Amino acid sequence: MEFADRITRVEPSATLAVSNLAKELEAEGEDVVDLSVGEPDFDTPENIVAAAEESVERGDTGYAPSNGVPALREGIAEKLQADGLDYNAGNVIVTPGAKQALFETFQTIVNDGDEVVLLDPAWVSYEAMAKMAGGDLTRVDLSEHDFQLEPALDDLAAAVSDETKLLVVNSPNNPTGAVYSRTAMEGVRDLAVEHDITVVSDEIYQHINYGAEHVSLAALDGMYERTVTINGFSKAYSMTGWRLGYLAAPADIIAEAGKIQSHSVSSATHFVQYAGVEALANTETAVDEMVEAFAERREFLLDLLAEHGVEPATPDGAFYMMLPVDDDDQSWCTNALEDAHVATVPGSAFGAPGFARVSYANSKQRLAEAVERLDSEGYL
Ligand code: PMP
Repeated sequence: MEFADRITRVEPSATLAVSNLAKELEAEGEDVVDLSVGEPDFDTPENIVAAAEESVERGDTGYAPSNGVPALREGIAEKLQADGLDYNAGNVIVTPGAKQALFETFQTIVNDGDEVVLLDPAWVSYEAMAKMAGGDLTRVDLSEHDFQLEPALDDLAAAVSDETKLLVVNSPNNPTGAVYSRTAMEGVRDLAVEHDITVVSDEIYQHINYGAEHVSLAALDGMYERTVTINGFSKAYSMTGWRLGYLAAPADIIAEAGKIQSHSVSSATHFVQYAGVEALANTETAVDEMVEAFAERREFLLDLLAEHGVEPATPDGAFYMMLPVDDDDQSWCTNALEDAHVATVPGSAFGAPGFARVSYANSKQRLAEAVERLDSEGYL
């Protein structure tokens, strides 16, 4: 069978190779400390679960309006307005996960041959989504600058031009945990305005932040009309399996992206959307507690690594850090998994060879176990 170009030019997710090997080892009865996962290790807060149950009991089990139930679109718009963003309910599409919101955005904006600029290290799916939309990638490497954007603004300026269609900015960042400064974001704004570039601002880790200022690009002068803001419920509310996210954008983008939603997934799951309403309204304490736990684990892991002479760039957000490892990070990760039974993700999957991404969404006890095993097998 001859398959469509749009799919043959995409590789399967590189992170899957690690988790498959980890699962194989576990199936053989080995105890694997899995630091490769991109999800919080907490249960979804009870009030959110209860809201979904009530919604099912109320009978919200039929099709939902394609762009989302009004209560949730309004709740999201209120949240965004509280963050200084000028979106109304009509500027929001509720999607089954932020991933679908990103997919719709790329499909809506990127034409065959359009230039898409990524800041490396970049989350694995941006590349695949850009390619599926026909885009050509240009990559700007932040690895030399402790993964910060501000010191790399000149490199970004050199990379973009009037030919650039889309720039993807993800802060707090997966895989590095970096939170980009206001100066960095203003630099992005200046370039986007100068060259008429649309910017995707993926803010899914917004609430997992250890004290750095969170800057939403769409709030900066000149950015509202050229920004698609992406956010969701997976990370902040520990709702990865519920599949709930959204995009917010000017009305013309919503009109076009809404066509993809209506002709593909139809909508996010009806009763899950009411769980989202509850999450936004009443979950501040639970979110604070989870973020507090991540903050403690971050300190704990940084201290432990420092004791072994390893000093990763200190992440200001999300629940990842980049461990400097061998140049051949793929082999390092495979061998560390096979020998020490610790699963991490090779940095090269994110365009950052020489690093391994470690998730600290795990108990302190397991983090300590991981460091001990890596050390005793000679990986630190
Ligand atoms: N953006 C980033 C940067 C992510 O790390 C993830 C999840 N790994 C997503 C988007 C998608 O999240 P979801 O589809 O679960 O909302």
